Amino acid sequence: MKSKCSVLINLLVLQNLAVLCVSQDFDFFYLVQQWPGSFCDSDKSSCCYPTTGKPAADFGIHGLWPNYNDGSYPQNCDSNNPFNESEISDLISSMRKNWPSLSCPSSNGESFWTHEWEKHGTCSESVLDQHDYFETTLGLKQQTKLLQSLQSAGINPNGKFYSLSDIRDAIKEGTGYTPWIECNEDSSGNSQLYQVYLCVDKSGSNLIECPVFPKGKCGSQIEFPTF
Ligand code: 5GP
Ligand code: 5GP
Repeated sequence: MKSKCSVLINLLVLQNLAVLCVSQDFDFFYLVQQWPGSFCDSDKSSCCYPTTGKPAADFGIHGLWPNYNDGSYPQNCDSNNPFNESEISDLISSMRKNWPSLSCPSSNGESFWTHEWEKHGTCSESVLDQHDYFETTLGLKQQTKLLQSLQSAGINPNGKFYSLSDIRDAIKEGTGYTPWIECNEDSSGNSQLYQVYLCVDKSGSNLIECPVFPKGKCGSQIEFPTF
């Protein structure tokens, strides 16, 4: 009897551990890209260019964020796996170009990349190790060509206002998938195009339709500021 009980107990412990592991996993990623002009003229953030100079007038990566289908998300999943720049030395020049940090004080990106890896990347380490995480994100950015999609539809970063649905349609036309647009406000209180979210399957390989969108809203006409 005793041994039957201990088998049962072991099974229960194993089952609970399995549930714990599954619940720490994730369902899909948000690929989040920011428009530097909107980060820089927002009423909330001050902006500092990297020491290597002003980034190109293009969308930059903010991050690749593991998420759950119910809209919640895991964060800071493994303090034993800190950011280690030497693991991505072959990617640094592309990171500086495509994933620049615009926050102050001025930096070359390392603190931004550390934050993104430790908060988000560690939550998908079962699928993508550190090198894969950054390489995959860079590849996804190249695949989405946001600015090109917008410009092909006559939507340019010139300080003019465009309809939110035209912006969405242009990105859908270019990428094949419906984006979610996050706005912030300029110093005069105008709603402007700040970040674009697209969804990526759990392997990090394919864009997908978003299982759930984040919360928040933009005006129906939003500004696309210069940078
Ligand atoms: P905010 O509150 O400014 O929208 O977001 C602050 C930070 O929380 C983001 O930069 C990101 O790290 C995290 N965050 C916000 N919304 C989401 C989300 O829907 N999914 C994930 N994975 N992270 C999010
Ligand atoms: P989140 O938690 O929002 O993913 O990460 C944003 C954090 O990264 C903030 O602490 C912010 O100060 C820092 N950060 C550094 N550079 C940038 C940047 O260029 N854009 C944004 N949105 N955050 C940045």
